[in-house]
Amino acid sequence: MREIGHWLDGAEAAGGSGRMADVFDPSTGEVQARVALASGAEVDAAVARAAEAQPAWAATNPQRRARVMMALVNLLNRDKDKLAEALSREHGKTHEDAKGDVQRGLEVVEFCIGAPHLLKGEYTDGAGPGIDMYSMRQPLGVVAGITPFNFPAMIPLWKLAPALACGNAMILKPSERDPTVPMMIGALLKEAGLPDGVFQVVNGDKEAVDALLDNDAVQAVGFVGSTPIAQYIYARGCANGKRVQGFGGAKNHMIVMPDADLDQAADALVGAGYGAAGERCMAISVAVPVGEETADRLIEKLKPRVEKLNVGPWHDRDADYGPVVTAAARENIERLVASGVEAGAELVVDGRDMTAPQGYEGGFWVGPHLFDRVTPEMEIYRKEIFGPVLATVRAGTYEEALSLAMDHEYGNGTAIFTRDGDAARDFAARVNVGMVGINVPIPVPLAYHTFGGWKKSVFGDLNQHGPDAFRFYTRTKTVTARWPSGIKEGGEFSIPVME
Ligand code: NAD
Repeated sequence: MREIGHWLDGAEAAGGSGRMADVFDPSTGEVQARVALASGAEVDAAVARAAEAQPAWAATNPQRRARVMMALVNLLNRDKDKLAEALSREHGKTHEDAKGDVQRGLEVVEFCIGAPHLLKGEYTDGAGPGIDMYSMRQPLGVVAGITPFNFPAMIPLWKLAPALACGNAMILKPSERDPTVPMMIGALLKEAGLPDGVFQVVNGDKEAVDALLDNDAVQAVGFVGSTPIAQYIYARGCANGKRVQGFGGAKNHMIVMPDADLDQAADALVGAGYGAAGERCMAISVAVPVGEETADRLIEKLKPRVEKLNVGPWHDRDADYGPVVTAAARENIERLVASGVEAGAELVVDGRDMTAPQGYEGGFWVGPHLFDRVTPEMEIYRKEIFGPVLATVRAGTYEEALSLAMDHEYGNGTAIFTRDGDAARDFAARVNVGMVGINVPIPVPLAYHTFGGWKKSVFGDLNQHGPDAFRFYTRTKTVTARWPSGIKEGGEFSIPVME
């Protein structure tokens, strides 16, 4: 059985805690590897080594740090297929989708090549008589990234690239369900020229996370995962005086207006609802057609599309999506589907009767489900299902549809499909959700913009990637300088003001 340890000091190291977790192949249900779960002492040792390595890295000029990012981009491109394959084998997503996972991470590394420009400070010449004032952005020291299973390349890269480009050392604690790709990224960073110890991967579970949250040398924590854990990490990290961003779960609504092109809307819903088996924080999980007639026509168009979806293992080129990540994830989805049926929602496409692909009977398969006539008090509406289940909530009017998106506790992404520019502008202006699509179902911003939700989809401030990441991973120091020739005789006892 393959054993996955940690990436420490520029090399793979075996775990020493004696605790391991199974890493499954979700398409067969078999255990394919065992991953080490770090003890608190192992985490502390990894942090101590990173703290030793960080000052020299911070003193390396930003252009040289950017060149490491440039080399990493080339290596990620070189190994994209290999990374995507390793990713699919542990996550279950299709090969094409896995390549997108790597690509969306790589694009943030490309953005970070701009570190010398992004880290330039501000300068005021002659802020007063003989006085100059300037601000600089300095790295924080050692920072931690704690990442989820559903984007095992993209999200670690979103964390590590800006953190390292800013001159920090990073401890990455990836998901224990698919730890191979983060370890491969560790090796690529070494090949790209990153000094040993500046990037460390510590595999583990709650014990490792808690050790990071309690370690005084860890200055900041960037977390992505489910909302309850995001809230916990934010609370404990902040209580320990750290800078914390915690990105959480989602329930993304797509409003379909009566004037929308319904074929386009149905295609968009199928891709955004069922791609990656619905295991995306930006998946559309709620369709909101406005008006009974729009709803009837939309369901009519969705049903055959959903029934036709092809579910298969990652290497099946005809598969639209693969298995879900674990048996526990499947059970949770099945329980929520049953609760929807029980509560009286109409199951238009019943994925429960799906037969597993031949030869993959042990896999964690979930067929596509389409619900109609879901209402806001139902559990399938309130909870994030994180599976191939699309819920349709019929709204009488645009205002009602808008209120649904606004009243939901999550606020990660949302979309409106319409031909009416006025409705689209009104929606974008008023909705209390962080990322909005107009005739775009999954509005994930590109690397040079920033990514983040509102409401219970986030704890803390500043978004991921883009200019915000450079703010999160640095602190500002502002210097006010007066040179001797400008100093008056004697002391100045009242507060200096610029009148
Ligand atoms: P998760 O919360 O179970 O795990 C995320 C990380 O937290 C993992 O590294 C895990 O080891 C760690 N963790 C889990 N339980 C913990 C505990 N009790 N104490 C301390 N650490 C713990 O999330 P997941 O199932 O891996 O990922 C899916 C979730 O992530 C979904 O809710 C999805 O919406 C969300 N997500 C959000 C975004 C975003 O940007 N908002 C992006 C991707 C995924």
